[in-house]
Amino acid sequence: MPHETPRCSRRELLAGAAASSLAPGTPAGDGRPNILYIMSDDHAAHAISAYGSRINRTPNIDRLAREGMRFDRCFCTNSICTPSRATLLTGKYSHANGVPVFNTFDGAQPTAPKMLQAAGYHTMMVGKWHLFSNPTGFDDWCILPGQGVYYDPGFITAKGTHQVRGYCTDIITDKALAMLKGRPAGKPFFMMCHHKAPHRSWDPEPSIAADYRKRRIPEPSNLRDGYETRTDAIHQCRQKVFTDLTRRDLKLQPPQGLTQAEQNRWLGVCPDSVEAEIGGRQVTLTGGALDSWKYQRYMQDYLACVESVDRSVGRLLEYLETSGLARNTVVIYASDQGFFLGDHGLYDKRFMYEEALRMPFLVRWPGVTRPGSVQRKLAINPDFAPTFLDIAGLPTPRDMQGRSLRGLMGGRPPADWRTSFYYRYYHDPGDHNTRTHYGVRTETHKLIYFWRLDQWEMYDLRRDPHEMHNIAGKPGERRMEAALRDELYRLKRELGDDDRFADGKV
Ligand code: CA
Repeated sequence: MPHETPRCSRRELLAGAAASSLAPGTPAGDGRPNILYIMSDDHAAHAISAYGSRINRTPNIDRLAREGMRFDRCFCTNSICTPSRATLLTGKYSHANGVPVFNTFDGAQPTAPKMLQAAGYHTMMVGKWHLFSNPTGFDDWCILPGQGVYYDPGFITAKGTHQVRGYCTDIITDKALAMLKGRPAGKPFFMMCHHKAPHRSWDPEPSIAADYRKRRIPEPSNLRDGYETRTDAIHQCRQKVFTDLTRRDLKLQPPQGLTQAEQNRWLGVCPDSVEAEIGGRQVTLTGGALDSWKYQRYMQDYLACVESVDRSVGRLLEYLETSGLARNTVVIYASDQGFFLGDHGLYDKRFMYEEALRMPFLVRWPGVTRPGSVQRKLAINPDFAPTFLDIAGLPTPRDMQGRSLRGLMGGRPPADWRTSFYYRYYHDPGDHNTRTHYGVRTETHKLIYFWRLDQWEMYDLRRDPHEMHNIAGKPGERRMEAALRDELYRLKRELGDDDRFADGKV
């Protein structure tokens, strides 16, 4: 497959990187753009107003869309946290970087940050890392242990561990700003600022939480999806708002007098009735009224967490302005994958359905991205590493499987840009009894194979954007289905997925 940027071996790359950092006429720090990559965890595009959210406003994140480019079709190739992070560092699919599930990332392998560091960038990482090995390729790093916690979080640095009192999103922002201010002069920088929010358990900053508790969040049209025409996979999963959110998720308070073990048991159960105060009256909620209440409480907390992330983006953008860095800094806002916000009655991610598959991806690159522009070509998270390198003027290593998005950012997509991509999810049963699957998405259709069930789903995304009507096996769709199946297995072969992690074991 031809590429718009030259490819080279790792040795050639490092030699080229060293040469480019010393190239005459390119003084370090002022020729090459800085890169600020801000990523949240589980922030669905449909909870960003620039993406047309019906449920919240995100004025600071929206600025990046207004002053830069909104990618409308950016997708994750394995929609869970750890694999997505390994992919965006390496430019490779899960089967190629060895992280299909929640397993340890081998930090000895080549990554974009290492190549940027070798090319003279000052590299920094702050926030949620979640790769089970410590960061490599960063001059300065400060990460949450594992998932981290929302309140009074601990951190790990190269020097040891420490704890900070306060709210996680605000603290990560404080640390990012301190790192930026303390960076060495005369070098361009690459920073990854990774928020924990709005990941489950959706614990908001208290003053914001109180405001969101008063809001009534509109329900998605398919909150009460009955799954007619769908395979067994969606019936079997345990990531349903009405039947799987626990009392802990719903922030219910355990009765007095329980031991710690009894409290944990009580909190770990999905309630079938709840005592709530509504309109100043104490009522017992059950059935449909309880279902609606669960959705409200889930979304109130999730969106309050998003609000803190949005404010954080505002603080970082403000620093870039006041420090004079904004004009030569590429700012990207993304999430490690999407999330179900009651769509199909679900929370969490994993499935290849649009809400979880889609990643928000907004980029402001002064002089390159046209303000207010929208890109509808298919972008995927293996593209992120080649893009970081290309922004710095570095070629894409031959073994990376993504392609630089630079041409798309400039509004000039290469003529041979992809029109389909491959997806694979491994973590079965995982935390939510989600069936393993792989599939292909084109610009108009999607085909998913739940191979352990030997069941297929197919959607025409033009007529059925919410994926309510599975048309796999339907007469009249056979030609399209056969073409999609051919494309699926062509991509699987081309990418070298030989089923080596098919059982999710590494
Ligand atoms: Ca995530």
